[in-house]
Amino acid sequence: MREDQGLVLTLTDKFGRAITDLRIAVTDHCNYRCVYCRTGNEGPLYADLPFSDYLRMARIFAGLGIKKIRLTGGEPLLRRGVVDFVRQLSILRSSDGQPLDLAMTSNGHLLAELAAPLKQAGLDRITVSMDAVDPDRFSRITRVARGFDSVLAGIRAAKRVGLAPVKVNCVLMRGFNEDQIVPFGRFARAEGVVVRFIEFMPLEEGRVWSPDVVVKLEEILGRMMEFRPLVEIPRARSETARRYVFDDGIGEIGIIAPVSHPFCGQCSRIRITSDGKIRTCLFSVWEHDLHELMRRGASDEQLADFIRTVVISKEARHHIGEPDFLPASRTMVHIGG
Ligand code: SAM
Repeated sequence: MREDQGLVLTLTDKFGRAITDLRIAVTDHCNYRCVYCRTGNEGPLYADLPFSDYLRMARIFAGLGIKKIRLTGGEPLLRRGVVDFVRQLSILRSSDGQPLDLAMTSNGHLLAELAAPLKQAGLDRITVSMDAVDPDRFSRITRVARGFDSVLAGIRAAKRVGLAPVKVNCVLMRGFNEDQIVPFGRFARAEGVVVRFIEFMPLEEGRVWSPDVVVKLEEILGRMMEFRPLVEIPRARSETARRYVFDDGIGEIGIIAPVSHPFCGQCSRIRITSDGKIRTCLFSVWEHDLHELMRRGASDEQLADFIRTVVISKEARHHIGEPDFLPASRTMVHIGG
């Protein structure tokens, strides 16, 4: 156990929030062009770092009290060597001596073959993005012609190998997939996965967000309740999703409602972009270049000091829908969700 004057190290911001959850975007390349995230074109790309650089960052963050690391992107499974990276992360310990909770968010397209190696390497859990259970609707949203079967196979493989609980994320956009709410309820029950609906946030490349396009928590709940009653289940304080189970105990639904019911006061997250910059909020308008410090030869202690200082400056909250809202300095595909 690493201790500082008898206390286990933790990262805390100026509002007293403990920062325990690190997300690392290991690339900002993606093989999907989801309408709520991308334009139909390739767009700008930032650099990817060698895994050894992300590993050093992860080790320092863990020593400062990070307990959970989620790999994201871009699409993390596009990165060769990601399985070995998971294996290296699985050896790290948080400042309390415990292993890290290792998770990944993926579009699932390449997951069917990688689920077993990822599990063997030490990945604990996976979240797969799937925005429709209807294959044609899925293609319209992802702009990929035949991805649905691959993603479904990926979800089933993840479940089979025990990357549990497998969560399926669905970003709802009015006019695209709000009619998928009840079909997703049936899907959660039939497949034994947790389906989580996410309110659309203004983080997309195409700047198509408007409040009218957001399908809000109350509407999602209302539609699902018409299908079958839901019972709310308790959740951890820092958990982003409100959780529900159907009244017969079969099928869990989550709703992540950052637009209509912000949870910034409980935020425990911090992010590293694929080019090694720290973002303290999805909606940050500036970043903190950790990789540049590493490149200039900073010691682990200097990097840890830098991280502590950056964490203190974490934003109080986002300003979605308010007159003073400033768009984030990067879009979601470059931040890592
Ligand atoms: N490629 C991976 C995937 O598709 O899951 C990981 C990266 S993706 C940016 C991470 C998550 O962000 C996904 O669950 C995606 O649905 C979500 N996301 C992307 N753009 C979003 C937006 N504008 N509003 C809400 N969620 C968004």
